[in-house]
Amino acid sequence: MRFLIESYGCQLNMAESTAIETMLIGRGMEKTDDPDKADAVIINTCSVRKTAENRIWGRLGFYHSEKKKHPLTLIVTGCMAERMKEELKKEAPFVDAVIGTNEKAEIPDFLSSEKLDEFETYHFLPSYYREGEFSSYVPIMNGCNNFCSYCIVPYVRGREISRPVEDILSEISYLEGKGVKEITLLGQNVNSYSSVYNGEPVDFPRLLEIIMPYLRNISFVRFDSPHPKDFSDRLIAVIRDNDRIAKHIHLPVQSGSTRILQLMNRKTTREKTLALIRNMKEMIPSLTLSTDVMVGFPTETEEEYEETLSLMEEMGCTEAFMYYFNPREGTRAASMDGQLEESVKIRRLEHLIDMQIKRQAEIKSAMLPFTALAIVTGTSRDDENRYLARGEHNDYFSFSSEIEHNVGDSVIIDATELKGNTFRGCERV
Ligand code: SF4
Repeated sequence: MRFLIESYGCQLNMAESTAIETMLIGRGMEKTDDPDKADAVIINTCSVRKTAENRIWGRLGFYHSEKKKHPLTLIVTGCMAERMKEELKKEAPFVDAVIGTNEKAEIPDFLSSEKLDEFETYHFLPSYYREGEFSSYVPIMNGCNNFCSYCIVPYVRGREISRPVEDILSEISYLEGKGVKEITLLGQNVNSYSSVYNGEPVDFPRLLEIIMPYLRNISFVRFDSPHPKDFSDRLIAVIRDNDRIAKHIHLPVQSGSTRILQLMNRKTTREKTLALIRNMKEMIPSLTLSTDVMVGFPTETEEEYEETLSLMEEMGCTEAFMYYFNPREGTRAASMDGQLEESVKIRRLEHLIDMQIKRQAEIKSAMLPFTALAIVTGTSRDDENRYLARGEHNDYFSFSSEIEHNVGDSVIIDATELKGNTFRGCERV
């Protein structure tokens, strides 16, 4: 049987698609990218943005016509499958199975025509590794208990479940054996990780400490995403004290206004967020930051928007994922009074993006010149004599070298200039 997987949305969705792919290959099935050759298509959906859902409805239309041309089993899984199970069954009766997020591990059984049981709890998959990659995701938890008022995740992924430490360590040992150089510990809110190992309670900082002795070739450990309200001094100290934990933190702040943060149910304030950022920078002077930030939340005033700009200015991110509020049906924010005009949201977002582009160029230019450990990701598109690499701070390098390299090689680069978002330099030999 040949299968094709289409994935949308977050990194956890991408990691889960890789795991499903590995399991299907393990069952003797063959991967294809050609819809005409596929016997089965799995669409791993996302519900976070309306645009993603619209796109998936379009893909369903496409596969409906494919099904008329040749036999095809069509499976829809992921957050949209969870959120709109009944609607999908009604509006797209040609879909053979709508499989919720907690049941993804059963897809191979379904395709092998074994019975699909109803599962109530999320099952972590055995491995999320894609053969040949030097960088891999390691999910450590699933779900979220936070119920931010704009977010659909707690409704579609359910409550927080932490993956056992033993399973995480065994996946890391497996990845070491595969030559992986970089791992990203994944979860909707990684710093509420909670488990027990050898009779000892394990929180997220302790999990990082437990993982460290198991690392041999893995140079960078990253994690995504932490919630600012749960970011403890102990966690900052563990990051500072362990060389292999990347000194680059993705900290989703969402807004710089205390009133808007409260409406978002973020359980933190502007002052606490700024204090956390100052503390992080003090404890780890080499730290760089990235963030998620949203403008145009219902009732956001110009002054509150300006507070977001000033928080972003002080935070000084080298990267930011910026978006405007887009109501998600089923969330509290979708039915809040004071929804803003699209034109206001777009104007605020465009201005924020302009400001961030200038700010990140300033921060990056101020870092020059410097020397960095990085991992080769390929060759430059513009110049095949130059390699591309990614460094600890999630920064990209274009560099020349007298040595021939393969993807995944570790290199030391002397960076001397910045072009766009990419540092340029040469390998130190
Ligand atoms: S922390 Fe908030 S934004 Fe993040 S997944 Fe949970 S509810 Fe959604």
